[in-house]
Amino acid sequence: VPVSELTEAAAKAELGPLRQQLTQWGKEYYEQDQPSVEDYVYDRAYQRLVQIENRFPQLVTPDSPTQRVGGQAAGQLAKVNHEIPMLSMGDVFSLEELADFNTRQQASLADHVEYNLELKIDGLSLSLVYENGKLVQGSTRGNGQIGEDVTANVMTIKDIPKQLPEPLSLEFRGECYMPKEAFLALNQQREAEGLPIFANPRNAAAGSLRQLDPKITKQRQLATFMYYVPNFQALGITTQAEALKRMRELGFQVNENSLVAKDESAINDYIAEYTAKRDDLPYGIDGIVEKVNDLATQVELGNTVKVPRWEIAYKFPPEEAATVVREIEWTV
Ligand code: NAD
Repeated sequence: VPVSELTEAAAKAELGPLRQQLTQWGKEYYEQDQPSVEDYVYDRAYQRLVQIENRFPQLVTPDSPTQRVGGQAAGQLAKVNHEIPMLSMGDVFSLEELADFNTRQQASLADHVEYNLELKIDGLSLSLVYENGKLVQGSTRGNGQIGEDVTANVMTIKDIPKQLPEPLSLEFRGECYMPKEAFLALNQQREAEGLPIFANPRNAAAGSLRQLDPKITKQRQLATFMYYVPNFQALGITTQAEALKRMRELGFQVNENSLVAKDESAINDYIAEYTAKRDDLPYGIDGIVEKVNDLATQVELGNTVKVPRWEIAYKFPPEEAATVVREIEWTV
């Protein structure tokens, strides 16, 4: 039934099982690193939940997947409290939706908006805390407030600087991922050993970072791209593009394919370029992230309970053959 034709009673009846299903899929994905359905199936169900809740806002509950970030930090790893929450990200699935999002966003702002465009790396968020330039803590996002302590594990990741060239006491955030080559080799090895294989590089990275034994993490060849400085004021910078540059200077891996875009055609060109180049990259990407470049404007826009209002993900469409299979799965 199209959402526009749902009665409130019908909506209410649908919401219970829909939320339960999404919560179950979320557990498998975020907590067990073993999704049972493709992302596209999850996204479609999630979109339907959003549409129903938009039509009947009185039916929104605090425990709805639309009001929560990620999963619980449920394993045996120690817990870490995130002073600044690690949020999720809104997403759009077409250029039209993206243009609409930008129009609405710009209407609330006085000045012309410049965007920093970045690749959306298909891994899991990572927080790194430095004290006097020394790496002292690594943690996962968890439910956004409470993540898992993976300090011993991040110490084994080669491309993460353990000591910065400046005595900074600051948090840096980014994505931990598994390069495609390492992912294929890992799955081959697991298959040979009769172990279950990982569904995709994202789940392999998450499963590898969230290990109790850092020796296992070390074998997994994880890598990082850093992209965010929550307390950017400490660096005296004013734009996201500068944040990336500063992080690169400090010795972090920062993805080189970002671009400052001033208008819609530059945004669409960038999306077209990386939609075409996607398969040739040595790491997985599942979309493009568009961020308001000016950091003061980011602060002005702020967040919802779940996502920043200054950034949005454009998600690539799923491959065509796979879509058919997923459509069928969804309708049965
Ligand atoms: P998300 O992972 O889609 O997007 C937010 C994340 O993008 C951030 O937390 C960050 O880690 C990452 N990111 C990558 N590159 C970035 C960059 N350059 N700048 C900023 N952030 C960057 O959001 P989410 O809420 O964590 O998860 C939703 C996603 O998970 C959807 O794609 C959904 O399909 C998938 N999912 C799938 C299942 C399943 O069962 N298959 C279940 C739950 C969620």
